[in-house]
Amino acid sequence: MSNKIKSINPSTEEVIGEVQASSGADIRNAVSVARESFVSWKNTPLEERIKLLKKLSELLEKEKAELTKLIMKEVGKPRIEAETEVLDSQAGIDYYCEKIKEIKEKSIHFDQEFFPETQGSVKFVPYGVIGLITPWNYPLSLPMWTIVPALLTGNTMVFKPSENSILVGQKIDELINKIFPKGVFNTVYGDAEVGKLLVKSDIDKLFFTGSVEAGKDIIKNIGLKPVALELGGKDSAIVCEDADLSLAVKGVVWGAINNAGQVCTSTEKVYVHEKIADEFIREVVEEVKRLRAGIDYGPLISKEQLTKVESHVKEAIAKGAEVLVGGKRIGKKGFFFEPTVLINVDENMKIMCEETFGPIIPIKVVKSEDEAIELTNRSEYGLGVTIWTNNIEKGKQLGNKIDVGMVWINEVNLPLPGGDYWGGMKKSGLRCSESKLMQCLRAKAFIIYSGREKRDWWYPY
Ligand code: NAD
Repeated sequence: MSNKIKSINPSTEEVIGEVQASSGADIRNAVSVARESFVSWKNTPLEERIKLLKKLSELLEKEKAELTKLIMKEVGKPRIEAETEVLDSQAGIDYYCEKIKEIKEKSIHFDQEFFPETQGSVKFVPYGVIGLITPWNYPLSLPMWTIVPALLTGNTMVFKPSENSILVGQKIDELINKIFPKGVFNTVYGDAEVGKLLVKSDIDKLFFTGSVEAGKDIIKNIGLKPVALELGGKDSAIVCEDADLSLAVKGVVWGAINNAGQVCTSTEKVYVHEKIADEFIREVVEEVKRLRAGIDYGPLISKEQLTKVESHVKEAIAKGAEVLVGGKRIGKKGFFFEPTVLINVDENMKIMCEETFGPIIPIKVVKSEDEAIELTNRSEYGLGVTIWTNNIEKGKQLGNKIDVGMVWINEVNLPLPGGDYWGGMKKSGLRCSESKLMQCLRAKAFIIYSGREKRDWWYPY
């Protein structure tokens, strides 16, 4: 690659900045600086680390307008979506700064009859240098979901933002380094090749968010190192017979079109019960027709992404899908694609089984909720599902039958604070049962004998 990475505004296709790509030596240097800083950072009292994160939250508040503008420009988000990233990041700081107080050394009981004067305990210690590689679709809040818990728990970091959001990545680096001691947080820039070098470097753990393809490559390259993978999805919305129709329509349309459908948990396909299908489809089409380019939805991130979305739609049409609204590029500068509603879709179409990552709502009418569950579970992905029903208990029961990491009932795309417990099953990633703070810590066990007598089971036998 050229050693300058250009940032392109996807709404205008203008180059809005460039950043020097990191070399292999830059990456080695960043990891070694992070390692040197680890000893003093892990010994910094927790109260001090909390204080610095609270300062970061204040700085985000001060820079909110600037950050919002930058996110809008670099990844094409509407204002409200860009500003939400700042608010989400601040909410994550508040959440993790409170939650970390719950993490305590644990004592483990030994049966004193068999093991007299024996104590066990487990404490939780930071990994060391955490590598973080992220995509562009939430260029601020998604990195912050890891940066906050990783720094709070005493790790130092090397961060590689996406090549499609380098300016926001640079801004994150600038803000954090205004507050934290030098060397604690380091940033490297570049594309997949730079990512690969970071994966193979001397880090102690990697947090990765991105595509399934990249995730598979990382597993090949990382060797014997802990790794957390958050990968792609193909979330269904299941609209039950007893759904609140107007809530379901609004939720499905927003869930599919916000961020131009470029969310790992975007509603990528809809299964609607036949009893309410006609009315639901009619209202979805009306709602989609009201959406305004550049205000309610932005462009796709790149020409490649535009081409991919277009090819999924064309393939579906060629196999018999019908377009009720949208269906094509918007003929002006920028990578805009019309929000699109498709019917007569089937699982043999890419639009129903591969991640599209675009503003498309393919709707399939089903005879029963069981059919919707069966079709949902057929997917190779298992990130999230949204269930629209007036019966919450039934919604939970349906959710229990679906192999996904996250179930939303009458809600969509709303993370737990700080993105805690975010993750999927199957191809969607390596699902972890731990909170994000615990994922940044490892257990260290202590077994202590305070007697003076030799143990009965030691030699001689
Ligand atoms: P991507 O995999 O192309 O790139 C993501 C990041 O990884 C970038 O920084 C890129 O430079 C780097 N990268 C790419 N290949 C790599 C490799 N082989 N080794 C190391 N680094 C590599 O993904 P993208 O297009 O930036 O983002 C979209 C994808 O991310 C979608 O599949 C989406 O579903 C997924 N995503 C998942 C989540 C989640 O939490 N599960 C959240 C957001 C996005």
